[in-house]
Amino acid sequence: MTITDETTTPDPIPVLIIGGSLVGLSAAVFLAWRGVPVVVVEKHAGSSLHPRAIGYTTRTLELFRRVGVEVPASSLSGPPRRARVESLAGNWLEEYPWTPGGPGHGPRVEYSPVAATAIPQDRLEPILRERARELGADLRGRTELVGFTQDRDGVTAALHPRDGGEDYQLRARYMIAADGATSATRDALGITRSGEGLLSVQRSILFTAPLDSYLERGVVQFEIEQPDFKAFMITYADGRWVLMLSDDIDRTEDEQKALIRKAVGRDDLPVEVITSGRWELAALIADHFSAGRVFLAGDAAHQLPPNRGGFGANTGIDDVDNLAWKLTDVLAGRSRPELLDTYDAERRPIAELRHQQIFARADYKAYLSGPRTDAPVLDDNAIELGQLYRSDSVIGAGPDLPAAQLPERWAGQPGTRAPHLRLDDPEHPSILDLFGHGWVVLSQDPRWRAATTSAAAELGLEIGFVEIGGQVKTAEPDAFDTAYGLTDTGASLVRPDGYIAWRTLTAPDDPDAALTDALTQAADPAREPVSDTL
Ligand SMILES: Cc1cc2nc3c(=O)[nH]c(=O)nc-3n(C[C@H](O)[C@H](O)[C@H](O)COP(=O)(O)OP(=O)(O)OC[C@H]3O[C@@H](n4cnc5c(N)ncnc54)[C@H](O)[C@@H]3O)c2cc1C
Repeated sequence: MTITDETTTPDPIPVLIIGGSLVGLSAAVFLAWRGVPVVVVEKHAGSSLHPRAIGYTTRTLELFRRVGVEVPASSLSGPPRRARVESLAGNWLEEYPWTPGGPGHGPRVEYSPVAATAIPQDRLEPILRERARELGADLRGRTELVGFTQDRDGVTAALHPRDGGEDYQLRARYMIAADGATSATRDALGITRSGEGLLSVQRSILFTAPLDSYLERGVVQFEIEQPDFKAFMITYADGRWVLMLSDDIDRTEDEQKALIRKAVGRDDLPVEVITSGRWELAALIADHFSAGRVFLAGDAAHQLPPNRGGFGANTGIDDVDNLAWKLTDVLAGRSRPELLDTYDAERRPIAELRHQQIFARADYKAYLSGPRTDAPVLDDNAIELGQLYRSDSVIGAGPDLPAAQLPERWAGQPGTRAPHLRLDDPEHPSILDLFGHGWVVLSQDPRWRAATTSAAAELGLEIGFVEIGGQVKTAEPDAFDTAYGLTDTGASLVRPDGYIAWRTLTAPDDPDAALTDALTQAADPAREPVSDTL
């Protein structure tokens, strides 16, 4: 193999992403939106037709909204309705809730300016690809990573263009491995995995058939239950349907069509099979999410079986949002590389919590080989919008706190997502619209403005100050105190990913020093604060 060397270019690229599926493309969008040049290599030309993710959570939609990824409105928006049926044309036995984990029991709270939605993965990926390109990402399809080495300063990747052409090397400061559950990068790094392991092998058949009349009652997912046949069938709401079978049997196309007709309960049904696939239902979490300058994300880091909380791809998209701001600040020289250690510290416990929650739910308990978990089933809103990060980038999130709870119970606890509030501002309808670029100090007390300016100058960080009740007003009076748990002199420090890093309920004697100390820990600034006690 002849390998040409792109390392002769004067500068290595900042971030190389392996895998151009949902998580790799999301990483590209999040980094490029922050101004970081990225190269994505994907061994296939486009998206896999194989039926996979369709449900995207509120948090994923919040992240996409921030970076201008526009997901078209879907007739499947909101939690999909599910029924247990003999067949679509036969007896309908019962309708049951999509997820056993929600809705929450607290007072009715508006959690977000957006709502969860549904779109097939092969329709979402082109949207992400287009947005990534618009933002300047360099996407290289039909290009495979065939090896890599890393040293103190970067990663050298060996790339193989599958359309012909010579293999070449690319030098990057950091690499994100979003190369899926069978990640060769993870194996090359010697990172092992733990968890329940392989649960079963599944077969899915993607097809078209004139079945719209069965959607009139609003149910879009069907558990087929016949004495000699069990299956699961869903619609993509674009004319395509998927039949999923819990077995590992190779079938001819005629046999596949016969099973589709059995599930529908009509021998005369015209059916076109688009594709069929075999996939493994497994639950495994990597024992480390990074090694040196390489970070695992998405299924490479955590393979979670598809569940009704949509933990699979959504967890991966959340991973790369967590990583993107940290890489941006370290590459820009604003934060020290040690900030990147908080990626594993924050994201691995989230994957482990989701693994636990999948098996706390009745539908997956049956798969457990060992003792059944007695962990309580958490509300989906707690898992998605009320998860807690504990790391050096968060101050005041001790081991005594629960791993997740409803956002209103946290009330602005450091380590949790800064809660949504409606603003009296048509351009920024949600307080979430103020987060994303740089750090933000929120307070109703204008004295924090001077503290913010002084901390930004001293530490070389990008920090904005938002005076609630001053330049920014919430739609409901007093909503800020309640949602963020502050008095009118307190302040919250929000990270570039919209998570609260620190807060003080009331103003301390020296707000400048308090804020500078908090940022010195949470942002790990490359520039040390100047001591005046020499
Ligand atoms: C039936 C089913 C239903 C699901 N439903 C949901 C759902 O509703 N909601 C949800 O959140 N999740 C769901 N999931 C899970 C979701 O599909 C995955 O979590 C998601 O695809 C993971 O994305 P990823 O980018 O991490 O990995 P993948 O999608 O596996 O992508 C990895 C990519 O890396 C590329 N690659 C691998 N090695 C190399 C290499 N050496 N060089 C270059 N490229 C390489 C591959 O070609 C691939 O494109 C479902 C999964 C299945 C199977």
